[in-house]
Amino acid sequence: MKYLWAPWRIQYFKGPPRKDCIFCSLPREGRDREHRIVYQGQRMFAILNTFPYNSGHLMVVPRRHVADLGVLEDAEILEWIHLTTAAMEAIREAYGSEGFNVGANFGRAAGAGITDHLHLHVVPRWVGDTNFIPVLGEDKVLPEDLSVTHDRIAAALRTVLARRTPAGGSTAGRANADRSEE
Ligand SMILES: [Zn+2]
Repeated sequence: MKYLWAPWRIQYFKGPPRKDCIFCSLPREGRDREHRIVYQGQRMFAILNTFPYNSGHLMVVPRRHVADLGVLEDAEILEWIHLTTAAMEAIREAYGSEGFNVGANFGRAAGAGITDHLHLHVVPRWVGDTNFIPVLGEDKVLPEDLSVTHDRIAAALRTVLARRTPAGGSTAGRANADRSEE
């Protein structure tokens, strides 16, 4: 690896800054499509980045307001990985992405926009995409309207998750046994 690269060091949400924690409040407002929330699980949810690096750029976020990885419970970690891999699969199926950057910034010094509520970025990549999409530009040209992205990712994610067992469930293997490979 030649250099450390962080495509997620960008603004999250439009409009004036909110005083409440958006990762706590947005999932409870019952306006998932408006807030670009593509999935709500028991312990985790997935929300599109408002200023995506690429179409499909989303964040997988714990419901609990926690800042440190170390305080996550096993069930949360399990669901986090489960939802993150499902999101990657969904993005790959919906957009044909060729790779992913998955990562998090801890603390302002590391570039985090929201420092007190954990969130993991999932950024789809295509070979050569850095040639024409600015990483840190303010006036980014979005490749696709976010409501379109929301609907595509949400549908693909539902399909992927339907093929799997419920996150954190105790029925591991049963749904997989029923899974039919096409
Ligand atoms: Zn929060």
